[in-house]
Amino acid sequence: MKLIFLGPPGAGKGTLAGLVSRGHGIPQISTGDMFREAIKNETALGKKVKEILGRGDLVPDELTVDLVKERLSQADAAKGYILDGFPRTIPQAEELQKFQDLDAVINFAIDDDLVVKRLSGREICKNCGAIYHVTNMPSKTKGVCDKCGGPLYTRPDDSLESITNRLDVYRRQTEPLIDFYRRKELLRDIDSSKSPEDTHRQIEKALASYR
Ligand code: ADP
Ligand code: ZN
Repeated sequence: MKLIFLGPPGAGKGTLAGLVSRGHGIPQISTGDMFREAIKNETALGKKVKEILGRGDLVPDELTVDLVKERLSQADAAKGYILDGFPRTIPQAEELQKFQDLDAVINFAIDDDLVVKRLSGREICKNCGAIYHVTNMPSKTKGVCDKCGGPLYTRPDDSLESITNRLDVYRRQTEPLIDFYRRKELLRDIDSSKSPEDTHRQIEKALASYR
């Protein structure tokens, strides 16, 4: 199954991609995680994108497409994957369709005010990337990952200023993809304003016809 998870920041794409990835045995490919990994390891790519991510702007299309092409050429992506956070622009989507046939695009719908609430309390495990929220989904021990014991941190782009910019960037650059994929009859609409379990059920229902 070749899937795209599309939606504004804070919609729950990353959390749900983790769940669906484990359930279906297909890799979760998150461009945001790949960029953050590069920043952490201080690679040439990391140095190039660090400030862009901090502001909540988009990494240039060419860089992003090259990264995804390379990742999709690896063996574990041959039978399926979840693209979490890619494509984010029409040019990225056009490049992707030149070399990949997709099964479905899951469109996570959620209101802006809820997005801001979710992102401004988000915590991520430095070690395994698991996602928590200080009030909605707290870890059992404060500041410590339930899954691996790693330390939790707040993403630099989860400041209010960056969140506002990311939402604005989403509206201008990414939202046009909804029509792009609806016209191709690939879009499946999901209400992601409730719990991860509820969203998960909706996604599995939408995917039932692909198994
Ligand atoms: P979120 O969906 O919560 O905003 P992500 O982890 O998906 O966060 O992405 C974090 C940042 O990584 C984005 O704000 C952007 O700077 C960069 N990024 C991720 N995916 C892309 C992409 N497909 N194109 C351009 N930039 C990207
Ligand atoms: Zn962890």
